[in-house]
Amino acid sequence: MKIAVIGTGYVGLVSGTCFAEMGNKVTCVDIDSTKIENLKKSILPIFEPGLEPMVKKNIERNTLQFTTDINEALTDAEIVFIAVGTPMGDDGSADLQYVLEVAKNIGTFMQKRLVIVDKSTVPVGTADKVKATIQKELDKRGVNLAFDMVSNPEFLKEGAAINDFMKPDRVVIGYESKEALKKMKQLYSPFCMSHERFIAMDIRSAEMTKYAANAMLATKISFMNEIANICEKVGADANQVRIGIGSDNRIGYSFIYPGCGYGGSCFPKDVKALKKIAEDHNYTPKLITSVEEVNNAQKLVISEKIVKKYGTDLTGKVFAVWGLAFKPGTDDMREAPAIYIIKELVKRGAKIQAYDPKAMEEAQLFYLKDVENLAYSNSKYDTLNNADAMLLLTEWKEFRSPDFEEIKKQLKTPVIFDGRNQYNIFNLEEKGFEYYQIGKADRN
Ligand code: NAD
Repeated sequence: MKIAVIGTGYVGLVSGTCFAEMGNKVTCVDIDSTKIENLKKSILPIFEPGLEPMVKKNIERNTLQFTTDINEALTDAEIVFIAVGTPMGDDGSADLQYVLEVAKNIGTFMQKRLVIVDKSTVPVGTADKVKATIQKELDKRGVNLAFDMVSNPEFLKEGAAINDFMKPDRVVIGYESKEALKKMKQLYSPFCMSHERFIAMDIRSAEMTKYAANAMLATKISFMNEIANICEKVGADANQVRIGIGSDNRIGYSFIYPGCGYGGSCFPKDVKALKKIAEDHNYTPKLITSVEEVNNAQKLVISEKIVKKYGTDLTGKVFAVWGLAFKPGTDDMREAPAIYIIKELVKRGAKIQAYDPKAMEEAQLFYLKDVENLAYSNSKYDTLNNADAMLLLTEWKEFRSPDFEEIKKQLKTPVIFDGRNQYNIFNLEEKGFEYYQIGKADRN
């Protein structure tokens, strides 16, 4: 099939490349000309495991191309995906300016009947707005062209995006026309050989499914973090409680790790947007509001533990930070807990020496660019030099089983604050460390 994907970020690039991998002919479009020029040379704007060789291979076999010209991309296409960002607006709602700009461009340039698929995460009712925007442009041109609207929210996880896209748990399709549904089934059939994975529904339910899924996952995280905070007060161990509750398969083990809060490009903005959607419809979403409040507080639990130990004035203290990305496997730093923790410590006078295997450039260029007293190191052990304590903030594999003797040798004092509860199996207290984790009362 011939496909145009508008917006070549995490979602657009992964989707376009995976569609191409299955033999479709894909044109990816972006307004960022540097990004497109680099992609033509197989230079990727993001780090995503396995993506680069797949892009390269599909460029070589002519199934994947890149352009800044939406008109060119629409010429051949039968299906057009909208995969641009829907960032958080000032009032917490999803900002639809990019989606509607693309809709306008589609209306301006389309020459034949198209299936228009919204893959961006958008509030319920957006498909109607996209439709109206396209129709308005067609009317302006005085052309009479039919088109089919589809909602196809994306569930991939950064860091595992290729696998998630190639073998999805489910493909959700919101549709109006049977013809469009048939096309979507055809497109996705190689990705979901078993049919339960292809879930068709009305468009509004599909739009809502994405928000409900992310809000559910965020709720599990905030629930467990709240339990962890109570555990600390009552002398229980959240790690053991996690194992205790996860064994019930109605609860399950996934997404119940206590930690320093969720971040990333999706959960924070989607929870906020769902809250706004509910409020706009005169419903007060109490649970979702609390999920967000718990998470905002959780991002500061590690810095609170530090203040409790060293006092409110951290002048002269040096902290080694392992991990900046919001989770392992990505260079994405959007809403990463590390941003909040580092800023809080620096505000109190501390110096930070940080290392992340992939996210340091993002941090330097954008998310921590104006932060003073922050230095970057070439390796995890280099951060420790002259530091008062080490903080683990992202559970990259290379941090999971470090050489604790080396850590002890390099740190000024053997103190670890573990924001991801990775080291509680190593009996660090027996190894001579002061060890702080989430959800277990500090012994010190
Ligand atoms: P992103 O910011 O990485 O990429 C968006 C791209 O769209 C950018 O490259 C930007 O230059 C481009 N763009 C903006 N306006 C454009 C226009 N008019 N024409 C062409 N290109 C344009 O965003 P993302 O992370 O890929 O997210 C895209 C959507 O998918 C969002 O709604 C997001 O919530 C959703 N989503 C993201 C993820 C994820 O893990 N990142 C997962 C599921 C769903």
